[in-house]
Amino acid sequence: MKIAGIKIAKGQTKQVRLAVAKLTSGVKIDIPVFVSRGINDGPVLLLMAGLHGDEINSVDVIRTIIDKEINRVKSGTVVCVPILNVFGFINFSREVPDGKDVNRSFPGHSEGSLASQIAYQLSKHILPHCDYIIDFHTGGKSRFNIPQTRSVLSNLDCKELADAFNAPFTLHSNLIPKTLRETAFNQDKTIIVYEGGESLRFDKVAHDIAVSGIKKVLNFLSMQEFDELKLKSITKYKRKWLRAPTSGFFHPIVKVGDKLKFKQVIGTISGPYADYQNNCYSNKEGYIITLNNNPMVNRGDAIMQIAY
Ligand SMILES: [Zn+2]
Repeated sequence: MKIAGIKIAKGQTKQVRLAVAKLTSGVKIDIPVFVSRGINDGPVLLLMAGLHGDEINSVDVIRTIIDKEINRVKSGTVVCVPILNVFGFINFSREVPDGKDVNRSFPGHSEGSLASQIAYQLSKHILPHCDYIIDFHTGGKSRFNIPQTRSVLSNLDCKELADAFNAPFTLHSNLIPKTLRETAFNQDKTIIVYEGGESLRFDKVAHDIAVSGIKKVLNFLSMQEFDELKLKSITKYKRKWLRAPTSGFFHPIVKVGDKLKFKQVIGTISGPYADYQNNCYSNKEGYIITLNNNPMVNRGDAIMQIAY
């Protein structure tokens, strides 16, 4: 196997660095990639995070995989990319400095915007080698995602991979244009996304479920053997956002993972001068998979996502 000019033989672990761009100071920026080949033939699994630079909990998941040598498999190859969007990571930002989202810039182009160049590096040097991909994310700013996988569940390979990962929630998600998931799916790769926790925060539960899910996938693909307990997972095919009916202080009385009835009171929104307090009601019967943690909301802000 040869990645970006570096040869990796069976039984070897090597670091490859994808040169992506230069800072204005002249400092070169590259993307470290950790490749571990087992001594036996087998599939190639890509574990990656930091496509959104501020989703630190997911970066920590891949760090743990490398640190505990979970990537050193007997069969096949594990490719780890802990931080794809290095620019966002050093700026505590989801996007690259010009505001573009790398996950709307795939497959990318060597002469494109910075986001497009980052996407291109992954598309050119890494994706062609991969059979299976797990892309790790967290919720956005102040939005907590319950540990969940998202994939095209009508595709048998994706469903099997998501079931093997065994997150507490297994969700169907349609493909979004110009995302990594769409690009990889259209190249016949089996890809799922993991979401857990929120950006710029550590969450041990979401971290540990992700590490356990990776071990279960390595068992499923016969790449390594781990003792992992199979847990109950709730599979849902649709999601709906609930938006704030008014502006003010949002006080939820429910938590992520709770099962809601239709029109159930989920909290209140009140004025800062004690001038009003309105109940908020669920707009679907289902499970809360995302909850807004920002105490102040404007009318129309997404405050909760319900899977049903
Ligand atoms: Zn993300």
